[in-house]
Amino acid sequence: MLDLTGQVAVITGSGGGIGAVIARRLACQGAQIVINDVNADGAERVAADLRELGVQTLVSVGSVTRADDVDAMVKSTMDTFGRLDILVNNAGITRDGPMIRMTEEQWDLVLDINLKGAFLCTRAAVRPMMKAEYGRIVNISSVVGVGGNKFQANYSASKGGLIALTKSTAQEFASRNITCNAVAPGFIETAMTHVLSEEVRAGWLSRIPLARPGTAEDVANVVAFLASPEAGYVTGQCLNIDGGLIM
Ligand code: NAP
Repeated sequence: MLDLTGQVAVITGSGGGIGAVIARRLACQGAQIVINDVNADGAERVAADLRELGVQTLVSVGSVTRADDVDAMVKSTMDTFGRLDILVNNAGITRDGPMIRMTEEQWDLVLDINLKGAFLCTRAAVRPMMKAEYGRIVNISSVVGVGGNKFQANYSASKGGLIALTKSTAQEFASRNITCNAVAPGFIETAMTHVLSEEVRAGWLSRIPLARPGTAEDVANVVAFLASPEAGYVTGQCLNIDGGLIM
C-alpha cells in the first residue's frame, strides 16, 4: 500500500474535476493537502470534503499564471505544514478551434495556464524540495501532447511542451532526489469532455481498445504511484492513461 503519511501534496486546479479526485486519493494515502484553484468556491468545497475525512487541508486561491500567487501558495504551504513533498501540476484549460480561426488570445491563454503555470509552480516548489533532498513532481499532460490533434493546436502544443518540461525538470533536479514524471490521460469523463459533441465523443470511444472512457480515478491511481516513495527510481517518463488509445 502506498504510504504518504506525514507528506504534503500541492495539487493545482484541484477545486474540481481530475485534480479534486487526485487530492482525495493522495489524502486517502495519508498526505496533507493543499488545494489550489482560481475557483474559490470549488476549492473550499473540496477542502470541506477532505476536512470531514479528518485530512489537514489548506486552500490557496490563485492563478498558476501569476508568479506572486504561486510564490504565496508555496509560502503558505511551508508556513502551515513546514514541508512540501509532492507537486501535481494539474491546472489546465482548453480553447479549441480550427487553427486558421484561433486567436492569439486563445493561444496565449492556454499556453500560459497549461505550460507557463507548470513552470512557475515547479520553480517555486523545488526550492523546499531541494533543501529536503526529496520531491515528487507529476505533470498532467495529455495524449494529444504526444500525438497532436486537429482543432487543438494550442492545447496539444502546451501538453507536448509539458512533456519536454517534465524531462528537463527530471534531469535538472535528479541529483537532489527529486523526480518528475508526466501522465498523458486520454478521454476522461469530466466537465472538460462533457462539452464535446456526441460525434466527437463517439469518435474517441471507437478508437479506445478498452472500449470505455477513462475516469478521474483511473488518472489518480497512476498519479498516486508516481507521487509515492515507491516510484523513486522512475523519472523523466510520460505514462499514457488512455485505455490503449496510443500504443
Ligand atoms: P476541469 O474539470 O476543467 O478542472 C481544471 C481545474 O483547473 C478547474 O477547477 C479550473 O478552474 C482550474 N483552473 C483553470 N485555470 C486555472 C489557473 N489559472 N490556476 C489555477 N487553477 C485553474 O478539467 P479536468 O478535466 O479535470 O482536467 C484536469 C487536467 O487534466 C488538465 O490539465 C487537463 O488538460 C488534463 N486532461 C484532461 C483530460 C480529460 O479528458 N478530461 C484528458 C487529458 C488531460 P475553473 O473551473 O474555474 O476554470
